[in-house]
Amino acid sequence: MSNATDLFLAEAEGFRTLVGFGHNGEPPYESGNCFGVYRQKDTRDDIISGAVTEYKIVNFNASNLDALLKLGLTWPIQCKLLAGRTAIIHDPRIGERWYSSRYCETCCPKNLLPITQVQRQEREVMRGDRTESDTFTTFRIPFRPPEFP
Ligand SMILES: [Zn+2]
Repeated sequence: MSNATDLFLAEAEGFRTLVGFGHNGEPPYESGNCFGVYRQKDTRDDIISGAVTEYKIVNFNASNLDALLKLGLTWPIQCKLLAGRTAIIHDPRIGERWYSSRYCETCCPKNLLPITQVQRQEREVMRGDRTESDTFTTFRIPFRPPEFP
């Protein structure tokens, strides 16, 4: 459940990953680059110091953000803090089809992933397709198909 203190307004885009994605057809797209946002300066101290904090967005891709901005979506955009510097777009102006169905597993710390994604990763480990250490994850490519694909 949303806690009002988890919500914040983002005023601009920060970093963006630069993976090449070929998109066919009209947005929304299921995959795309990740991006960060800057939290709107919302306290007097922030405004005076000019301090800005950047958050990684894990439930939205940059191609869909671009498309929505072209359609007229305006900043600030409402976000929800998950923990630390990890957040999601959480804006009631945006229809559900624009949100990613999964959190980005590269950007999102494992302890913040939805349980369905954690459980899928567990099955990949059980199949021997995924090996995890404290510092990195390796994959066997191509994945061995499950017995009942
Ligand atoms: Zn990502």
